[in-house]
Amino acid sequence: MLNRFLLICLLLPLATLAQKREPKVMLPVIQGKIVYDSTYATIGKTTEAEVLNKAAKWFKAEFAFPGSGLTAIDKQNHQVKGVGIFKIPVSDDGHYYWMRADISVQHTAVGYRVMVTNVFEKPVEPGISNEYSKLEYRWRDYKNGKPWSAEDDNLFTGFVAALGKMQKSLQNSLGLNTVALQPKFRVLAFYSTIVESDHVDFARDCISFYTKLAAAQNFVFEITTDWKKLNPENVKDYQVVMWINDFPQDEAQRKTFEDFMENGGAWMGYHVSGYNDKTTKWPWIVNFLGATFYNNNWPPLPAKLIVDDNTHPATRSLPKNYVAPITEWYGWKPNPRDNKDIKVLLTMDPSNYPLGKKDVIRGGDIPVVWTNTRYRMIYLNMGHGDMVFKSPLQNKMFSDALFWLGTAPQ
Ligand code: ZN
Repeated sequence: MLNRFLLICLLLPLATLAQKREPKVMLPVIQGKIVYDSTYATIGKTTEAEVLNKAAKWFKAEFAFPGSGLTAIDKQNHQVKGVGIFKIPVSDDGHYYWMRADISVQHTAVGYRVMVTNVFEKPVEPGISNEYSKLEYRWRDYKNGKPWSAEDDNLFTGFVAALGKMQKSLQNSLGLNTVALQPKFRVLAFYSTIVESDHVDFARDCISFYTKLAAAQNFVFEITTDWKKLNPENVKDYQVVMWINDFPQDEAQRKTFEDFMENGGAWMGYHVSGYNDKTTKWPWIVNFLGATFYNNNWPPLPAKLIVDDNTHPATRSLPKNYVAPITEWYGWKPNPRDNKDIKVLLTMDPSNYPLGKKDVIRGGDIPVVWTNTRYRMIYLNMGHGDMVFKSPLQNKMFSDALFWLGTAPQ
């Protein structure tokens, strides 16, 4: 009994201590890595050459330590890149850290974007030689209340302050009147690589398309092949979940998605992500999509599409009809149009029939893009092969649809 009492006496102060170990600052972590990503909108006119030239000069002036400074002017990606080294004092008796990170300054449609990645730390203590190591390890323990040393508070607050100072200095050097922008919305896109190769090709193009759009239009577009990230703790940080070329097989992931959608989350799904048949065993998704796969054409072909509604935010830039680039098309039974909650936005034009050679779609009413009005969602049947993003007209719909989902009031 006495022993247990003693143990409690010993543990209680420890528990209180642990509670006090709240992190003093938060570092942004994306897919397990510390990544600062901030966009500044420029007020007034500026050119790419102006931003890149000034940023290159700034790198040279700001980072004078050996091994730091400007590393590349990457005109193809509209950016300049460099290495930043920061000295962070952590104690009164002269301990400090070197912090090293890759830094890029990119010119975008709205202004410029600063990214800080690959962050390393190196303690400098008298008589001890240390090497640089990735900050993520130390950050994870610090955040979980298990700091490596009493200096960690100063290390992390000092680093965040140094980045703030750096941003100010960059802003001054660019001489631009700017405001920091919060990302408009956050998208988490799931895809798979161990699937049909044409669907992997589509994922590659889709990721490239939305990554560029995100940089230009200031939203967060994160991608992952780890479907375990479809969990409640993780998805709460996103407004939109996208399925590029697959759908969840696991019960827990399916349940997370149902809860996300039932509580105002948004979904964009392409092609095979809407595939379901009698083997799928997920009644909720049949209801959600309002459709079950019935047939397809083969080989993949372009098709003329009818725009059912060009007042909807997703399709308002489209004409009455257009020819969509090569993809594989699906027919549906039940037909989503028979579901009163479904609003069909695009439909296969009957002039395409018979569509295909090996597998032929001979006729019927085939919705191609639709939304279930009970949710914030859009399904797009395109998504097979490397031609889908070849139509600027259709690409505009892809971008409008995501903006509609990301910015619609919840
Ligand atoms: Zn396909």
